[in-house]
Amino acid sequence: MAEIDGGRLWQSLMEMAEIGATAAGGCNRQALTDLDREARDRFQDWCREAGCTSRVDQMGNLFARRPGRDAARPPILMGSHLDTQPTGGKFDGVYGVLAGLEVVRALNDAGAETEGPLEIVAWTNEEGARFAPAMVGSGVWAGEFSLEEAHVAQAADGARLGDELARIGYLGSEAAEAFPVHGSFEAHIEQGPVLETEALQIGVVTGVQGMRWYDLVIDGTPCHAGTTPMAHRRDPTQVLVRALTRFFDGLDHFGPDARATVGVLRSVPESRNTVPAQVATSVDLRHPDAAVLEAMEASLRDLLARGSQESETAASLTCVWDSPAVAFDTGCVAAVREAASTRGYRHRDIVSGAGHDSVYVSRVAPTAMIFVPCEGGLSHNEAESASADDLAAGCDVLLHAVLARDAVEPL
Ligand SMILES: [Zn+2]
Repeated sequence: MAEIDGGRLWQSLMEMAEIGATAAGGCNRQALTDLDREARDRFQDWCREAGCTSRVDQMGNLFARRPGRDAARPPILMGSHLDTQPTGGKFDGVYGVLAGLEVVRALNDAGAETEGPLEIVAWTNEEGARFAPAMVGSGVWAGEFSLEEAHVAQAADGARLGDELARIGYLGSEAAEAFPVHGSFEAHIEQGPVLETEALQIGVVTGVQGMRWYDLVIDGTPCHAGTTPMAHRRDPTQVLVRALTRFFDGLDHFGPDARATVGVLRSVPESRNTVPAQVATSVDLRHPDAAVLEAMEASLRDLLARGSQESETAASLTCVWDSPAVAFDTGCVAAVREAASTRGYRHRDIVSGAGHDSVYVSRVAPTAMIFVPCEGGLSHNEAESASADDLAAGCDVLLHAVLARDAVEPL
C-alpha cells in the first residue's frame, strides 16, 4: 500500500521556495520570468527522476506522465500552478503541483501500478499578476480563451506572453487544448480562515462561488458646500452612503456565504467644499448560488433606484465581469470526501471563495479540489504559512481520491 512521505513533500516545497525567495520569507516567482523557468526546470528534473515523461503545450502548460497498465485510458490529472504573486507565499499553487509529485513518488516506492496513467500538471500564469487574465493556461486549454489572445497578453514591462514562453524555452509544440481526462484533482491551501477556525484538516471543495464585478456611477449636481441648504442638494454621496448602508445591513439575509466589497471610491471633482457632480465606485458581489447572487444584485439596484429617485440623482450599476458559480463533479467530490473519511481526517464540505485553474478544467473534465488550512487564512502574502501535517493530510487524501477514481471504469 502506497504511503505518502510528508517530510519529503515538505522538503520539496522548501527547495522550490528557494527560487524567488523574498527577504520576508515569501516568494516572488511571477509567470514566465527567469525564476519561473528555474522552477519549471527543477520540477521537470524531479519528474524525470520519478520516471515521468513530460510534454509542454503551446501555452507552456506542463504535463508529466506516469504510465498505467492501460496506455489507452485517459489520464487522471493532479496539479495546480508554480507562478506566484509579486509578494506571494510558499504554498499557493506550488503545493498542488508538488502534492501530485509526492503521490507519484509514493506509488513508485510501493511499486504500485495504476490502471490508467497519472499526469502531474503545472498550469501557466494562474495568478494573473504579470499577465492578465488570470488562469490563462488552463483557460486556453479548456477553450475559454484563444491561444492568439493569450499570446499577445502584455506585461507592464512590455513583454508579450507568447514571446516570454519562447524566451524561457517553454513554448511547447503540443496544441493547448483539452484532451480526454478521467478526473482532475487540485490540492490547494484554503486561502481563507474556515478550516483553521473549525480545527479541521481537509476541505472537500464542492465548487467555486460565482462573482460579479460592477461599476457604480451616481450623477448629481455640483454646488457650494457652504451656501446650499441640505434640502436643495442633489448629492450623489448621500445616495451612495444610504444605499450601501442598507445593502450591507441587509446582507445577512442572503446567508453566511454572501460577500460584498466596495474597494474603489472616487468622486468628481474631488474638492473638499463642493458637493460632488459624480461618485463612482467598484462593487464586487459573490455567492455560491447563482439565484442568490441575482437577488443580491436586484436588492442593490432597488436601493440605488429608490435613493436616486428621492434625491433626483441618476444611479447606474453596470456589470463588467460575470464569473458564474461552478459545481464540481459529484463523483470526484465524493472520492475526496470518502478519502478524507476513511483516512480519518476531520473534514467538511466547502465552497471556494477564490478562482482556481480547476474552474476552467471543470468545464471539460470531471474535477474536484482538496483544501488544507493555512495560518490565519492568510494568502497572497509573504507570511502565508501551512503546517507540514496538514499539507501531508491533503496529499494523502489526494493519493486515495486518485486511487479511488482510478478504480472507476472511464465512460
Ligand atoms: Zn493558487
